[in-house]
Amino acid sequence: MSRDRADLAVVRGDITAQDVDAVVNAANRGMRGGGGVDGAIHAAGGPAVLEDCRRRFPDGLATGRAGWTTAGDLPARWVIHVVGPDHRAGETDRSLLTSCYAGALAVADELGARSVAVPLVSAGTYGWPLEDAAAAAVDTLRSTPTEVREVRLVAYDARAEQALRAALG
Ligand code: ADP
Repeated sequence: MSRDRADLAVVRGDITAQDVDAVVNAANRGMRGGGGVDGAIHAAGGPAVLEDCRRRFPDGLATGRAGWTTAGDLPARWVIHVVGPDHRAGETDRSLLTSCYAGALAVADELGARSVAVPLVSAGTYGWPLEDAAAAAVDTLRSTPTEVREVRLVAYDARAEQALRAALG
């Protein structure tokens, strides 16, 4: 098996509408749903996502880690949950953010996912500075060996799209 690099593309939109094998969720340590992209994924995926979170992550998930559940009613087959660092709460270790993206690709490889949609982890409620959040996403997703062929970086608004396009170069 070749361990290549994925093709990266920036798209503007709602991650829950992406027709890909797996969508990445910016979850929190409790793994019981939340706001932002997490809330949108649970709302669109339906109760099966939360049920699987409870079953597979009874103790939650540590910051910087990645794990998967069913995607329920989403077009995707799996949700890959990652827990980004809460910059607002003083979690400023960048390796916790880059490990979310590297971990998401490792989980995608375990699952056999070939296309993955990814949000800007930690750049919302958790307050990671936008330009650096975009650079961390692009740099890590670009340099991590993976079987994933297509990574869609999903920008929810114009500022995120601009930051991602700048990071992509
Ligand atoms: P965090 O708590 O990790 O900061 P948030 O969900 O608050 O996570 O924000 C992460 C990023 O996801 C932000 O850039 C936010 O604008 C974006 N976002 C929110 N909802 C969606 C959605 N439905 N699809 C794609 N991106 C989204």
